[in-house]
Amino acid sequence: MSETIYDTLIIGGGPAGLTAGLYTSRAKLNTLLVERMIMGGQVMTTTKVENYPGFPGGIDGPDLMMRFQEHCQEFGLQVQYGEVEGLEDLGDMRRVRVDGKDILARTVIITTGAEPRKLGVPGEQELTGRGVSYCATCDGAFFRNQTVAIAGGGDTAAEEALFLTRFASKVYLVHRRDQLRATSILQERLRENEKIEILWNSQVTRTEGDASGLKAIELTDTVSGEKRSLDVAGLFVAIGVTPKAHFLADVLRLDPEGYVLTDAECRTSMTGVFAAGDVRKKILKQIATAVGDGAVAAIMAEKFLMDQE
Ligand code: NAP
Repeated sequence: MSETIYDTLIIGGGPAGLTAGLYTSRAKLNTLLVERMIMGGQVMTTTKVENYPGFPGGIDGPDLMMRFQEHCQEFGLQVQYGEVEGLEDLGDMRRVRVDGKDILARTVIITTGAEPRKLGVPGEQELTGRGVSYCATCDGAFFRNQTVAIAGGGDTAAEEALFLTRFASKVYLVHRRDQLRATSILQERLRENEKIEILWNSQVTRTEGDASGLKAIELTDTVSGEKRSLDVAGLFVAIGVTPKAHFLADVLRLDPEGYVLTDAECRTSMTGVFAAGDVRKKILKQIATAVGDGAVAAIMAEKFLMDQE
């Protein structure tokens, strides 16, 4: 039996990957989407998405992603679970290594997204899962009537701080500057919430705890350098994301932060390979832009295949 050569192999099942899959399957390209763990990407840890068009009043992240998947199923998108370990250009096709096995495809669309950045402070790793968390939606409910802190000043930190007030008695938002990066509507909601206190010019420099979990965090004033300890049961880290493109470092052009470099049509430095969504170097990371990227990458992959024939 001859080995299957897919028209398109998509790596990653978040909004960009599912959109690319929808487009290529609908265009009747033989498409396989490979997902490492859970379909839906970072949106799966978002409680409410308020800025994706078509859902007045907002929609829960997992619900939105379920709709994306159902939509792809309508067009017969094939899905395989596994970890992609490598990518190689064979000239007229690409070889993708998944869990030690090779899969061949004429085009590849990389939509692996990004993962939460770590603070890199003493105790953080040891206390992860025992007070230190990177996902308020996942772990917030463990901190009912307790005091928690959230590190970061962007949209994620603001949204997670607001979400945590459903459970925690007090939420400190620890930000290293005197101005938030979060959009003004979120800043307004933070100010209006009595449970939230913003600690300006403050950096978490240590986490303190024992086998039973996190007890306190050390805060360093970024202006005076002064240190103090703050008793908290939970620390949520929301200081941005880092792209999941390590496995591509030797084969594709990445920027210094590890994002995949593409042109405006989502072409990477390897022929027949495209990148879409948060893994790609770009200015705005939103579900709407990931969806836009996914569509562009899919259409460009289709065009590439037509040009080859
Ligand atoms: P982000 O916008 O990059 O913000 C990261 C925040 O963490 C910044 O305030 C930054 O401080 C701080 N930070 C970074 N490294 C730090 C460190 N080592 N120690 C302490 N603080 C640190 O990341 P994000 O909030 O995760 O958002 C990522 C993208 O998703 C953004 O484009 C965002 O707009 C988007 N997003 C949108 C929504 C929405 O539209 N509802 C929701 C979530 C995320 P500085 O400000 O000092 O740099």
